[in-house]
Order: sequence, then C-alpha cells, then structure tokens
Amino acid sequence: MARDPARIDRILWLLTKHWRANPDLRLGQIIGNFTPRVRTSVGGAEPGDPYYVEDDVIEAALRRACKHPSSCTRCGGTGVIDTGNNDLPCDCPAGDTAVFNVCGEGQLTGAEMKRRLLGRRT
Ligand SMILES: [Zn+2]
Repeated sequence: MARDPARIDRILWLLTKHWRANPDLRLGQIIGNFTPRVRTSVGGAEPGDPYYVEDDVIEAALRRACKHPSSCTRCGGTGVIDTGNNDLPCDCPAGDTAVFNVCGEGQLTGAEMKRRLLGRRT
C-alpha cells in the first residue's frame, strides 16, 4: 500500500503546532497520547504500540487536539485522562472523539465508551 507523501508535511505541521502549545510534553508522550488505547490484563488501559498505527489515525487525533488547543486543562486537548490505572475519555468535546481500543469491543470513541462502558449519557 502506497502512502501519500503529502501526509508528512501535514502531520509535522500539526505536531509542531500541538507541541508548541504544550512544550512540557515529551515527544514520546505526544505520540503515546495519540495512539489508540489498549486494555491491560489488569483491567486498565495504556497507549497501544504506535508501530502498528496508521498515520491517518494519529493525524486525525492531532487535528482534533489542534482544533481545541489548551481548551481543556484536564486532558490538554487529547481527550484522554490517564488515571494511573485506566485511560478514560475526558468530559470535554475531545473526549467524545478520542479513540480507545477496548478488549472485546474493538475501537470505541470516547462517546461510545461513556455510553456503553461507563453508563453515562453523552
Ligand atoms: Zn479534556
């Protein structure tokens, strides 16, 4: 599968914008924040392996974060709250569109996760 070389400049522009808005983040932390979550064996969730994530997934997540720059102090625009044990969707709009890999469910948006797993209305 040939990938669009134009994505490189698009993604680097988004990455630059996001990183300059959040200069305390490490590069690995940013990539991890925008990689879909995977459930751990102990019931938590952690960033998935970015090696297998297609660029359009990370690009879309970066685009969402750049659209709402520092609009949320809880998640920094990623839509993901890291509780230490679990990654949960934030209550802000980015939380509804963040993507989580949920064991037995596949990929769910934050809004689906809130409805189906957390019993919340969105
Ligand atoms: Zn948030």
